[in-house]
Amino acid sequence: METFCQKLPKIELHAHLNGSLSKSTLKQLGCSEESIKNYQETLTDIKQVFNQFQVAHNATNTLENLNLATKCVIEDFAKDNVIYLELRTTPRSEKDLSERDYIETVVEAIRNYESSKIIVKLILSLDRRRSWKEQLDTLDNIIDLKQKYPDLIKGVDLSGDPGKGEFFKKLFEKARDNGLKTAIHCGEIKNDNEVMDILDFKPDRIGHGTCLHPDYGGSEEIWQKYQHLKIPIECCLTSNVVCLTSKSYEEHHVKELLKNSLPFSLATDDKGVFNTTLSKEFTVLGQTFSLSKNDLWNISRNSIDYSFADEEEKGFIRFALEQWKIRNIENYPNF
Ligand SMILES: [Zn+2]
Repeated sequence: METFCQKLPKIELHAHLNGSLSKSTLKQLGCSEESIKNYQETLTDIKQVFNQFQVAHNATNTLENLNLATKCVIEDFAKDNVIYLELRTTPRSEKDLSERDYIETVVEAIRNYESSKIIVKLILSLDRRRSWKEQLDTLDNIIDLKQKYPDLIKGVDLSGDPGKGEFFKKLFEKARDNGLKTAIHCGEIKNDNEVMDILDFKPDRIGHGTCLHPDYGGSEEIWQKYQHLKIPIECCLTSNVVCLTSKSYEEHHVKELLKNSLPFSLATDDKGVFNTTLSKEFTVLGQTFSLSKNDLWNISRNSIDYSFADEEEKGFIRFALEQWKIRNIENYPNF
């Protein structure tokens, strides 16, 4: 099962650039041994995770480091046989770096990463801790640069500490009106009013979607509404278990999605912080819920439909996945 999940061509739709930095990348970026050691060791809850991100943020505060970090993260995913990656990051300004420089640097690093093994797109995040005006300024930069790089900048996300800030529907309507797709972190912690607002907006995808079902901190009303909308959910099992927003893998809300045949994809969220890979996430899902290899192959295939790639690219990725199946069907028992 482990080998199968490693070799399986995979689709990653929820990966934050800064949280995805591996220890060896942090080292290359000049982080001290001590800060790297602390990077994965002291996690006990979701609040601490946001402190951990500071290590990664400090490591990517120059153009040069940001460029190198982007390249290393893409390389890690490619090595894990991820054939399509939507990387996301929150544009921010630093001492010698404007928000626009930040975005352009990441775009440039993606464009310069030449490989026939992986297609990479960019989602830009609005930080929910920032004010309406600050988020609007960021969005205007994103919209402007989307015109310049339409093949690469695909969507907007809302992320950051779920216990702070709020969802501004008008900003996401503006994003949508300007041709951007939307993937919104939703229901990471219980917040019924906000979850309802986000569902009313009908984003293209939902990040986590933990507190939707009444058994997982949501409500009957929310779950009914969600079941009607069937918005694909980006499930990040290890992230949720480490942050304690899920009690265990067995009690992860993906169980309800599997049971009701609702759309979802598997994702790593922050593979560096949570010490995971997309292959591990597939293995854990398969083992925890006794899925067949073909079930896992189908999860990978369905994720293509939920991606923000254009139709031609989707066709290309589907073809790659189908070819892989034809070549490997004999190699794995019960595939
Ligand atoms: Zn996330």
